[in-house]
Amino acid sequence: TPPPAQPQGKLKEPPSPPLPRQNAKVTPPSPPKIITDKNRTLEYIRVGLLGEGGFARVYEVQDPRGSRAACKVVTKSSLKTKKAKTKLYAEIKIHRSLEHPNIVRFQDCFEDDDNVYMTLELCHNGSLMDMLRRRRRFTEPEARFFMIQLIGACEYMHTHQVIHRDLKLGNIFLDKNMNVKVGDFGLAALIESPGERKKTICGTPNYIAPEVLFDTANGHSFEVDTWSIGVILYTLVVGRPPFQTKDVKAIYKRIRDNEYEFPADRVVSQQVQELVQQTLTPDPQQRPTLHEIVDHRWFTTGIVPGYIPATAHDAPPDFR
Ligand code: ADP
Repeated sequence: TPPPAQPQGKLKEPPSPPLPRQNAKVTPPSPPKIITDKNRTLEYIRVGLLGEGGFARVYEVQDPRGSRAACKVVTKSSLKTKKAKTKLYAEIKIHRSLEHPNIVRFQDCFEDDDNVYMTLELCHNGSLMDMLRRRRRFTEPEARFFMIQLIGACEYMHTHQVIHRDLKLGNIFLDKNMNVKVGDFGLAALIESPGERKKTICGTPNYIAPEVLFDTANGHSFEVDTWSIGVILYTLVVGRPPFQTKDVKAIYKRIRDNEYEFPADRVVSQQVQELVQQTLTPDPQQRPTLHEIVDHRWFTTGIVPGYIPATAHDAPPDFR
């Protein structure tokens, strides 16, 4: 029997100005300063907040031996629906199955009364998004370095039947040596039988492949990550995403019409323009494979640095 109708306090009140944002969220209480699992076999000291995502907060933590990690905290109060739980379990299942030098390593997963915790390899140098904000854009040698590592990680995921589905600069982290670590498997999908198609519309507007938006009957598969890789390449060398405009509807229209331009005032090589253009092929069946992308002459005839110096954080390094 349903509970008797009761005024639900604040929920029933008409919104008073200023209107609350639709996605405004209440900040949940911080996790304990010392985080332990139920059996107290693990112990981490919470050091500082690294960032906040859609449904998680990520802290820097230290274990008793002094090694540092990132700890993704999801409050159990945000896992009330079956859908939310299924999503989190899928993220954990997929992420912990992956082991690659360019994928954020999944260490442990445990819970206490209030939260679910995932400890992850710590990426000291933030995301490519943070770095792009400071640098405005990257040199083509730097872009080659980041792209090769990203494509390597992506190739590994795809051979393990995982589609990431949310590849973007904000989910590409950098470790202390400036190597790429792909993270955030919150939207990842596992392809469980050959030829299986995914139908859920998901991703981040700027990076979303046309077939996700406009071929919902047919669904999508691994090629959506390849599309995002094209968007990422453009963004690294130009400094903003190709389909970027003021509102989401207009972004989708530009994606549908394959409408983007290279700025005339910036020196972006012909070769990288050609590679971006090939990668952003609207028909997923005609889109190049990851192998074809790394075989493109932009990669094979250009400078690929052996490493990115820490100075690259704030100024373009000279790779000549
Ligand atoms: P969500 O899935 O909720 O979007 P993310 O996994 O994207 O959460 O993490 C949110 C933020 O936390 C990131 O933007 C980043 O600033 C920080 N972060 C996440 N993982 C790490 C990590 N392994 N090392 C360092 N910072 C991280």
